[in-house]
Amino acid sequence: MAYTYDDQNIFAKILRGEIPNNTIKETDHTLAFRDIQPQAPDHVLVIPKGAYVTADHFAAEASDTEIVDFWRCFAAICGELGVAPDQGEGYRIISNAGTNGVQDVPHFHLHILAGRPLGRMLNS
Ligand code: 5GP
Repeated sequence: MAYTYDDQNIFAKILRGEIPNNTIKETDHTLAFRDIQPQAPDHVLVIPKGAYVTADHFAAEASDTEIVDFWRCFAAICGELGVAPDQGEGYRIISNAGTNGVQDVPHFHLHILAGRPLGRMLNS
């Protein structure tokens, strides 16, 4: 089944500059900004600029260049936030997908959560 991308989703609007965001890093193919409702002292969303709905969609269809750019951007952010376990206290990444994943925004995004103990992975 092919994914259909809704270009009216909130992250598409952020990428088009139609609504503001608190950017922390931007590369050719990736944008990272702070979540508007942070769940931890550091709560960053990393998104590809391309029109991908979920992590699996991105992994299947993005170009090698986009995929490398995304993950290198993620690594740079971990370094800049000082949260990587080799220099800091660690972090969690989450990417919700679809109904069971309780994905609110249908544009692939990685949550980076850090800055406090995050507990066990799932509460229910
Ligand atoms: P999801 O449930 O899709 O994994 O997460 C969507 C995330 O986007 C939520 O954590 C929510 O707080 C965040 N979010 C929704 N609208 C905006 C917005 O306009 N700006 C920013 N920076 N984050 C948003």
